[in-house]
Amino acid sequence: MTIQLKDSSLLKTQAFIDGAWVDGDKGETFAVTDPATGQHLADVASVGADETRRAIAAADRAMIEWKALPAKSRSDVLEKWHQLIVDNTEDLAVIMTAEQGKTLAESRGEVAYGASFVKWFAEEGKRVYGDIIPTPSDRRGVVVKQPVGVVAAITPWNFPNAMITRKAGPALAVGCAIVLKPAAETPLSALALVELANRAGLPAGLFSVLPGMDAPAIGGEMTSNPTVKKVTFTGSTPVGKLLMKQCADTVKRTSMELGGNAPVIIFDDADLDLAIAGALTAKYRNSGQTCICANRLLVQEGIYDAFVEKFSAAVSEFRIGNGFEAATTHGPVITEKAAKEIHSKVQNAVEEGATVVIGGQPGEQGACFYQPTVLTNVTEDMRVFREEIFGPVAPVFKFSTEADAIRMANDTEFGLAAYVYTESMGRSWRVSEAVDYGMVGVNETAISSEVIPFGGVKESGQGREGSKYGLDDYLETKYICFGALQR
Ligand code: ADP
Repeated sequence: MTIQLKDSSLLKTQAFIDGAWVDGDKGETFAVTDPATGQHLADVASVGADETRRAIAAADRAMIEWKALPAKSRSDVLEKWHQLIVDNTEDLAVIMTAEQGKTLAESRGEVAYGASFVKWFAEEGKRVYGDIIPTPSDRRGVVVKQPVGVVAAITPWNFPNAMITRKAGPALAVGCAIVLKPAAETPLSALALVELANRAGLPAGLFSVLPGMDAPAIGGEMTSNPTVKKVTFTGSTPVGKLLMKQCADTVKRTSMELGGNAPVIIFDDADLDLAIAGALTAKYRNSGQTCICANRLLVQEGIYDAFVEKFSAAVSEFRIGNGFEAATTHGPVITEKAAKEIHSKVQNAVEEGATVVIGGQPGEQGACFYQPTVLTNVTEDMRVFREEIFGPVAPVFKFSTEADAIRMANDTEFGLAAYVYTESMGRSWRVSEAVDYGMVGVNETAISSEVIPFGGVKESGQGREGSKYGLDDYLETKYICFGALQR
């Protein structure tokens, strides 16, 4: 074991089911490795459908008392969990950098971001209001909001902490129990989080974590088990579609946070330096592995050349390497397979006529590295236009008119985040309203926080996470009719 922590008891390698640390029934394990070095970090228990079923049954039992508590009592536990996450930031960040590869600074940032959802929903959970509907006769309609029931969550590796807290936070706050399958690449962050929830006094069964190699087995149980009333997923669009189909048989509610293909539209009238700073963050954060990462830079012809020159000069300053080293600005991508997939998209573009301004090759630092890359002479037929790149590659497309930019931005099945750079008030409104995306950043790419509704349209998903709207995904609306009031 190579992860050095202040509190080594945060490094858990078993599953957490019904308040207990357990091995998988078959005694199977899977290896977790450091993408920067290829080093083996841990062998983690691998569970399947049977353990998942037991976790769901435990969740169902635990919910009975939990949902009956005053919201304030649930909030108190979440506040303690929040504080423990904050207090253990450094260890959680070290675990994250080791298993995910992002720089330590990015990991610390994510732990703070992840913690913010727990805090936010601890507060927001106390504000679940209903309604009284005046009716014309001798009746009154009352609307109450109730927890949806047992929630199953499946989360990805790109944000191993925050994608969990923004599901578990609201679910627990309103009175649900949750069973979670973390990504097999990054289970250690999830296990450390649930250890802290346990220390915060969360009753047994309310939050089980099910690491496993066999995602279809765990996901199959989650989506078919009638006790589960809601499936919340963050990951790829193909897997999201599959889970939605599987949920149809028992008519479960779903929240889906899926792939993106974000355009950054930069008009001639933009503040160039502001646009470059925003595009750099939006493209290269987490080495290009976020679902709201800029996938396509759309730059108007009048500033195109100046943009490419300054943007590429800034990219040439990046230092890729091990996320634990202070000089590193950008870490590896998650796996060798991912690095190869990124390279195949770059090669496709080059074969079709793209020019590599900078980068364009796998990194020399190890099998999971890819050079920060800028491509010009790119066209709309190329894979880098149509597909989510999920790596540090920026294709810079040229457009002439506002109408062209809007058409190009919308020419995708995805609709998560879009960004617009312009100094014109009118244009910023027009374009924001014309693009088919769930979120639009105007002169800003750092759009996410716990207070805003995060989510997409089209094949980028459904449902919203964070903000007051984030509670709705975990609530049912019940109408109660009080009759015979004149009796
Ligand atoms: P990514 O490209 O980010 O790895 P995935 O959609 O493959 O995207 O993975 C996101 C999460 O979905 C991970 O926890 C993964 O294990 C899980 N997953 C992948 N395939 C399935 C499946 N068939 N059923 C349930 N979960 C799955």
